[in-house]
Amino acid sequence: MGDRTCIVIGASHAGTTLALQLRREGWEGSIKLISEEGELPYHRPPLSKELLAGTKTLDDIRLRPAKLFDDNAVDLMLNTRVESIDREGKTVRLADGATLSYDKLAICTGAKVRILPGSERFNNVFTIRNAADIEAFKPLAKEGRKVVIVGGGYIGLEAAAVLRKLGLDVTVIEAASRVLERVTSEVLSAYMTQLHMSKGVRIVSKAMVKELRGTESVELVVCDDGSEYEADFVIAGIGVIPNVELCEKAGLATDRGVLVDENAQTTDFDIYAAGDCARHPSALYNRPLLLESVQNATDQSRVAAANICGKPTVYDAVPWFWSDQYDIKLQMVGLSEGFDELAIRGNPELGVEAGFAVFYLKEGVVIAADCVGRPKEFMMAKKLVKDRAKVSAARLADESIEAAALAD
Ligand code: NAP
Repeated sequence: MGDRTCIVIGASHAGTTLALQLRREGWEGSIKLISEEGELPYHRPPLSKELLAGTKTLDDIRLRPAKLFDDNAVDLMLNTRVESIDREGKTVRLADGATLSYDKLAICTGAKVRILPGSERFNNVFTIRNAADIEAFKPLAKEGRKVVIVGGGYIGLEAAAVLRKLGLDVTVIEAASRVLERVTSEVLSAYMTQLHMSKGVRIVSKAMVKELRGTESVELVVCDDGSEYEADFVIAGIGVIPNVELCEKAGLATDRGVLVDENAQTTDFDIYAAGDCARHPSALYNRPLLLESVQNATDQSRVAAANICGKPTVYDAVPWFWSDQYDIKLQMVGLSEGFDELAIRGNPELGVEAGFAVFYLKEGVVIAADCVGRPKEFMMAKKLVKDRAKVSAARLADESIEAAALAD
């Protein structure tokens, strides 16, 4: 067993966890963890928060110390790009022409950012995915400067909060009818919009960028509703696309992500995938899901590692997410899409300290919750969603019942 090789492509949350977990699960052979980036792997959530704010450095947010890879005999190959996978020969070909053999292969290639159409010719339009992206626009992020952020998802709003705090003039342009529309209900979108506006951020929804005007740099962002916004620089946070070109070229089944089963195994017996690039069957939601979150990356990669080591394990974790903006901590569990009833516990208008939670029900079953400054409700919601619990909306909203007792 000790002469076998597992190659892990991608060294972010999923790949790093998977490679190290292989050792814990008893993989005795060689482990190669391949990263296109030249950086020791780092946490991505702080990019749009502490790293941008300057309260943490890149070295503060490393996923694991370099020594841990050495201690676990994980061969971390930085600045290395995989060009193709030969499933017949069980090899991967690198950009420098070298080939590496594998017995098991794990694909953790994540996702790449969508590029704002027409932005390529300008030198002041940025995205946020890698540490280098932050370094690229940080010198421009100075008090009084004007930033236009395209996209009112998590990236856009988290960046807006930090840049506003740094004293910039911030405009967020969102194509949908409200911010965070893809991930949450109107209640939370309204709360977040209000929060940002109270801090002086301009939020423009139902507006698509029609034109970026300027010579080398964008100076004016023109929207299809006729509105125009001056900009010293632009950040596009308009979503991501799973990196599955390698999988497609290798003939693995894909559908807006590489398809895996509940064991994180692709349609090739020896190839597994986890994280932002993989779509798995969710027993909880009874549909295939591709989740773009740290929880999914780490939990699914642990499942993949166990299965690679011959220990049958099923991935059925409840999805959860978080976001920090200004002084609020937003914690979300489950997926609210398709809810037919909601319960609001607390009053969103009472401000940050009291907090509030929104529970989402479908046919009486709790399917998701969004919690603002309510860690106890968040803990309980995790349990309710996992158990597919039926709790009435009236009970969920009743603050005279302790959060810990909601399931009783
Ligand atoms: P996102 O959640 O997909 O949000 C992008 C938003 O931009 C969408 O509301 C989208 O609206 C809008 N949009 C798209 N094209 C636009 C255009 N041309 N003009 C104006 N608005 C446009 O993606 P993201 O915020 O870029 O985040 C990227 C990934 O990182 C996501 O997977 C996200 O979940 C993850 N992330 C997570 C966290 C967290 O969990 N705290 C933090 C940061 C990032 P439509 O939907 O109508 O296209």
